[in-house]
Amino acid sequence: MPELLRIRVAKDAGFCFGVSDAIAKARETAQKHGKVYMLGDIVHNERVVAQLEQENIKVVDSLDDVKNAPVLFRAHGTVPDLWKQAAQQAITVVDATCPLVHEIHNEIKKLHDEGRKLFIIGDHGHDEVVGIQAQVPEAIVISNIDEAQALPKIKKAGIVSQSTQMIENVQEIISILSMKIFDLRFVNTVCFPTRRNQEQIKELAAISDVMIVVGSYTSANTKRLHEVSLALNPSSYMVESTADIKEDWFVNAQSVGVSAGASSPDELINEVVEHLKNLHVKARV
Ligand code: SF4
Repeated sequence: MPELLRIRVAKDAGFCFGVSDAIAKARETAQKHGKVYMLGDIVHNERVVAQLEQENIKVVDSLDDVKNAPVLFRAHGTVPDLWKQAAQQAITVVDATCPLVHEIHNEIKKLHDEGRKLFIIGDHGHDEVVGIQAQVPEAIVISNIDEAQALPKIKKAGIVSQSTQMIENVQEIISILSMKIFDLRFVNTVCFPTRRNQEQIKELAAISDVMIVVGSYTSANTKRLHEVSLALNPSSYMVESTADIKEDWFVNAQSVGVSAGASSPDELINEVVEHLKNLHVKARV
């Protein structure tokens, strides 16, 4: 007899409040002004971006392409030069920077004022990290323990982290740096929605036969959550949509945990859950 799967969905799976608020602001602005521009995708999810494009929320590469409508600066922050350029070109800016990203900007400025050498634990080239780095004259990005180990001894340093970093990666880097830096001040700026999501995925991975992490293959955040899950449960799979789900994954499984990256919309998570509900598991032999 085929049996149905027990499905548990992580409570905070999917859009964080920063991304939800930015999307709401983009929609509101497009409705009010007929159109709104953004420099780059609002969220690393092709489906959401395509949907927003239909609502006149347009992605452009440069402020020079912004014509007769406001530009929205995205949740993960924007470098000061672009703020200046927008002012010079008299472009209306709608600031959708997440308050928690503003907080990281403030913290790194304070560390700079204390005369510390500055470090950011984060992904090289990620827009949020580039935005944090641009708040101060000089800050070095460290993405892994090898880069931390390669640093010389330092007298006085200040460190912040990208909001979506893995807590474990941050902790490992800090424990290496604490041996190299005499006077170290670390401000843990991994945001609370990210922490919650990481905690919940660990709990689910430990009690589920199979784990499904929903998100775009281009989303660093989803990939990281998948890695966390995989470390605890080898039957962890990342899917972009229901089309990626394979019945073979569930042979003999009784339970499945579902989580998602911060760039996955609720409707996509719900589709996956509905699909799993209808999935009849092959009987045990
Ligand atoms: S991941 Fe955290 S810091 Fe980034 S937008 Fe979401 S809530 Fe804000």
